[in-house]
Amino acid sequence: MGEKKGSTRGERLAPARGRRRRPAAENGEIISMTKVCKAYSTGAPALKDVDLHINRGEFVFIVGDSGSGKSTLIKLLLRELTVTSGSINVMGYDLTKIKHRKIPKFRRNIGIVFQDFRLLKDRNVYENVAFAQRIVQKSNKEIKKNVPSILAIVGLAGKYKAKPKQLSGGEQQRVALARALVNKPTVLLADEPTGNLDPKNSWEIMKLLEQINENGTTVLVVTHNREIVNAMQKRVVTLKKGVIVSDEEKGGYIDED
Ligand code: ADP
Ligand code: MG
Repeated sequence: MGEKKGSTRGERLAPARGRRRRPAAENGEIISMTKVCKAYSTGAPALKDVDLHINRGEFVFIVGDSGSGKSTLIKLLLRELTVTSGSINVMGYDLTKIKHRKIPKFRRNIGIVFQDFRLLKDRNVYENVAFAQRIVQKSNKEIKKNVPSILAIVGLAGKYKAKPKQLSGGEQQRVALARALVNKPTVLLADEPTGNLDPKNSWEIMKLLEQINENGTTVLVVTHNREIVNAMQKRVVTLKKGVIVSDEEKGGYIDED
């Protein structure tokens, strides 16, 4: 706010390369939500006074009952929705002020995975992942290098020609993960990624998310999977009726009553 072009004190406040860096990125915070409220046109507010600060490289579970505001929180972070009040900064972008034309560029640094996979049904595995690279105008040469390498990471190198309906749910979710990761996002958001999977596949997806996080990506996972949350000993943020009721390092799933 109010940043002047030249400093009257005659000193460079920051080196040229760092000048465009914004405050939230500098102190290690990659996601910063301050007093965020979100009300839809109907019903009670979906989020109330949410304060959530996540550092670069963290792995965070977001848990809470159905209707507690988890998906609303994810949509706000993607700037699919705007806040009713409060402020959100993601990767240095002030999402209350970001210009519409800048939103696609902002989203390029975020990978997203949903419960229902959302793959292109008429395209094979390779094309589903390559598609994400075409959107950001990668060359064919790069696509041919990057897609097989990411498919190998998610354990699907041998299935690149398969169509989604020829794959199990777990495999489809791994394709979705590959698609989310191929552009090397800074942040990965997953909204109930194991919601449609059996326990074995759920574990495999969570272990992949953990591995992705260990390679440096900041990961936020919305989940109902109590067993996995309790076992993984990560930071756990619990929402209840739109309010953060607990935020614990190495937390567990809070049982109702
Ligand atoms: P969760 O993902 O935790 O199940 P949501 O964020 O989807 O919760 O929803 C939080 C609250 O906001 C719920 O009461 C839900 O009914 C309401 N809600 C979600 N989306 C809309 C919408 N588009 N219009 C009106 N109310 C909505
Ligand atoms: Mg939801």
